[in-house]
Amino acid sequence: MKPISKSSKLADVCYDIRGPVLEKARQMEEEGQKIIKLNIGNLAVFGFDPPDEIVQDMIRNLSAAAGYTDSKGLFAPRKAVVHYTQEKQIPGVSVDDVYLGNGASELIVMALNALLDTGDEVLVPAPDYPLWTAAVSLSGGRPVHYICDEQADWTPDLADIRSKITANTKAIVVINPNNPTGALYPPELLREILEIARQHQLIVFADEIYDKTLYDGATHTSIASLAEDVLCVTFNGLSKNYRSCGYRAGWMVVSGPKKHARDYIEGLNMLASMRLCANTPGQLAIQTALGGYQSIKDLVAPGGRLARQRDLATELLNQIPGVSVVKPKAALYMFPRLDPKIYPIADDQQFAYELLAEEKVLIVQGTGFNWATPDHFRLVFLPNSDDLADAIGRIARFLDHYRKR
Ligand code: PLP
Repeated sequence: MKPISKSSKLADVCYDIRGPVLEKARQMEEEGQKIIKLNIGNLAVFGFDPPDEIVQDMIRNLSAAAGYTDSKGLFAPRKAVVHYTQEKQIPGVSVDDVYLGNGASELIVMALNALLDTGDEVLVPAPDYPLWTAAVSLSGGRPVHYICDEQADWTPDLADIRSKITANTKAIVVINPNNPTGALYPPELLREILEIARQHQLIVFADEIYDKTLYDGATHTSIASLAEDVLCVTFNGLSKNYRSCGYRAGWMVVSGPKKHARDYIEGLNMLASMRLCANTPGQLAIQTALGGYQSIKDLVAPGGRLARQRDLATELLNQIPGVSVVKPKAALYMFPRLDPKIYPIADDQQFAYELLAEEKVLIVQGTGFNWATPDHFRLVFLPNSDDLADAIGRIARFLDHYRKR
């Protein structure tokens, strides 16, 4: 029989967060081994329960939510998103500009598919949340990575962005707050990114899914709130701020000069129609979540569980010789550096395998986030303090052996 091959469209598509190292961890678990998972931002499995009112709302609505809805979603939750954009001072958004999706992920793929022709370029941060790079490739586009500067709290390097713009550049992706670095961008920097977008007529894709997961009393500015004259598509959802990844509830908001983007918006509407609608219970939960008590505040406040775990992980990692990490200002992740002079890693996926095999700790290698050199990894600081300290102790022991090889 002729072998069945995958589509050539997938040739450059890569999503290492759920890649081969996770597969190995699964096998080990099936053999009865206990793995400490620092690999994925899945809050609920670490005891960060969603707000009870969302769960109750899901249960209550289930029997009445069995039908399809409008492709963009139900009116009331979209109206709730409009209200949210008003709070974030994003100008000129109406219900018609809001699309609900099965998580932000679905909408990210949709927004790129609707825009890109073969060879169109999209500026994507390095490191990035790798769905962005993968979705640009899948849509026929070419991801062009701009550097975020570790020395400058992982903020985007504006000169690098400028140097990478060509006649084919269509859009720039801004992930703020950032996964995997935990960076939070100040408004002045966002204004400079907008100025570049304005000059080169780029669409801004703003992934703001961690916009309420902010430490040290920080505030978040939506990039779309700073420009009425640049087309912005802003993504958000319940997965992180409301600890409800499994409910698959997200939204996308188009703002800025929409009349110049009629054709693109038609494309978005077409793709939204083709997948009929987002799951209806998830849509209804959006309204309840946005209007309810914002309990994420208690987790990120000083002394709150997420804030404590962030502090602990930062401190313990920075104590390991040859390891340095920028303290996250937001989100659930950190992206520690392994000094290449001390840890000459040639293949960081192999490094992640070996850490897993020797110490039963699962991380994701830095190159999985489109970071060019094998000298970083991403750590999720969601396990409770005891497990986190245990895991980082194991990483330290592994690195000690690694250094002495
Ligand atoms: N964007 C970023 C930056 C993320 O980190 C994630 C998930 O980890 C997503 C989007 C996907 O979110 P959703 O669960 O809404 O699909």
